[in-house]
Amino acid sequence: MKVVASASRMQAMARAWKQGGLKIGLVPTMGALHEGHLSLVELLRPRCDLLVMSIYVNPTQFGPREDFGRYPRPRQHDQRLAAESGVDVLFRPGNLYREDVSTEVREHAVSLGRCGASRPGHFTGVATVVAKLFNIVQPDLAVFGQKDAQQCDVIERMARDLNFPVRIVRAPIIRDRNGVALSSRNAYLGPEEYQRAVEFARILREGSRKGKSTAVAWTRRRLRGLAGVDIDYVSLDGSILSAAVRIGKTRLIDNRKILPRAQG
Ligand code: AMP
Repeated sequence: MKVVASASRMQAMARAWKQGGLKIGLVPTMGALHEGHLSLVELLRPRCDLLVMSIYVNPTQFGPREDFGRYPRPRQHDQRLAAESGVDVLFRPGNLYREDVSTEVREHAVSLGRCGASRPGHFTGVATVVAKLFNIVQPDLAVFGQKDAQQCDVIERMARDLNFPVRIVRAPIIRDRNGVALSSRNAYLGPEEYQRAVEFARILREGSRKGKSTAVAWTRRRLRGLAGVDIDYVSLDGSILSAAVRIGKTRLIDNRKILPRAQG
């Protein structure tokens, strides 16, 4: 596995591969890799000739009081897992923004509710960095996890609206054996907080079986009854029931598809 830190070198390599007719796959991440990230690699690996994983803790998608500074950055661990999982090139840039950067990509519809409402500017940071990664890596395919369902919506819309020549693949949510959606932020949780995360995941799953008309109210009521868990939002979008909560200092998100047979 090659490790590339320079954006211009990455872009030159990608251009050469494309001229050679090779199909490029991109797995964008912020590192602190876990099985969820590796499942994205597994999904894309058979569908492309060259698989690029990017690791970049993107400052512009964090709010001023969010966890940018303390976000985990286990470089050796990440490099080992990426290599073992079959990544061809690990793109790990230092800083992707010039000091006088004055251009951004802002989506105006699907980014408005849910996480967009509670994290102002977040999806503009996401859309902008993903647009930059698309221009640098020039992927034919890029994969994003359903764990961040609204992020998938925003990226799909951006790729469509701005004519990026890339196919967006959505990957299913990987959970641990207690049903908690894997997340790099789970590392922040102490043992009691982790138990609350298990309850959060369980309630969301049960809520998704209550039918469309009652799922949100039922889930909100049950989450309100959980000590040590503050609700950020509970939302139904199409058939996706999603929620964000704060457990101590940690913000967790999760979502479930409303089961058709339970629709009310
Ligand atoms: P992150 O490093 O948190 O920015 O995530 C990088 C990519 O991995 C995003 O597309 C996420 O949606 C995806 N991802 C994160 N956690 C999971 C998970 N538990 N299952 C599947 N995909 C995930």
